[in-house]
Amino acid sequence: MVNVHHSGIGMTSQRTRARMIERLREQGIRDEVVLGAMSATPRHIFVEEILASRAYDDLALPINFGQTISSPFIVARMSELLRAGMGLGRVLEVGSGCGYQTAVLARLAREVYSIERIGPLLMRARARLRELRLGNVRLKHGDGLLGLPECAPFDAIMLTAATAHVPSSLLEQLAIGGRMVLPKGSQDQRLCVVERDAEGCVETVFDEVRFVPMLPGVLKG
Ligand code: SAH
Repeated sequence: MVNVHHSGIGMTSQRTRARMIERLREQGIRDEVVLGAMSATPRHIFVEEILASRAYDDLALPINFGQTISSPFIVARMSELLRAGMGLGRVLEVGSGCGYQTAVLARLAREVYSIERIGPLLMRARARLRELRLGNVRLKHGDGLLGLPECAPFDAIMLTAATAHVPSSLLEQLAIGGRMVLPKGSQDQRLCVVERDAEGCVETVFDEVRFVPMLPGVLKG
C-alpha cells in the first residue's frame, strides 16, 4: 500500500536513511543489528508532515503534548545498550511517544509491550505501527511507572522519559539476568543500565542526556 500522505520527496528515500546510518556509525554506534533495524524503519512517518524533511537529521523533534521524539543517536545508543550484543526476548518500553523507538525495538525483540500515558499520542503510534505491519507489538494506555505486572517478567525494560530513581515496581518486573536502560536524574541526567542478577542489581552510568520527565497518572486527551 502506498502511503500518499508521506510519499514523495527524497527524504523518504532509502538513501537519506543510509546517510543517517553512516552518521550513526561515525558517532560511535557499533551494533550492526541495531543499525540494520534503524535502516529498515522509516522515521519520517513518525513525525508531523511539516517536520518530515528533518526526520533523518540528528535531532529530537516535537511530537505534540510537549513531548519529543528522541534523536536517531539516542534511539541507537539506547537500543545498543539494551541489546548488549544479544537477541532480546520480551521487552517493555515505558513512554511510546510517537512509536519510533517501539518500531525499532520490534525488529530487535521477540515481543514488545509499550506503555504511554497520553491517549492521543498512543492512538497515533498505534496507527503508524499498524502501517508498518509489526505484529509483535502491544501498546497500552496507562501509567508506565506501574509497569505491566500481568505480562512480567521482562527480559529488558527501556524507559524513554527521565526518572530521579530506578522505579522499584519496574525493577521487580525485570527477569533475573535482565537489563533496564533509562535516563536517570532530574537536572543532570545520564543514561543508566541496570542489570539484575540473583543477588541484586548492578548499575552502570553512561552518556549525559536530556529527556522529558516521567510523569505519573494518565491523560485521556
Ligand atoms: N520513545 C519516544 C519518546 C517520547 S518522549 C519517542 O521517541 O517518540 C517520552 C514519552 O514518555 C512521552 O510520550 C510521555 O508522554 C511518556 N511518559 C511520561 N511519563 C510516562 C508514564 N508514567 N507512563 C507512560 N508514558 C509516560
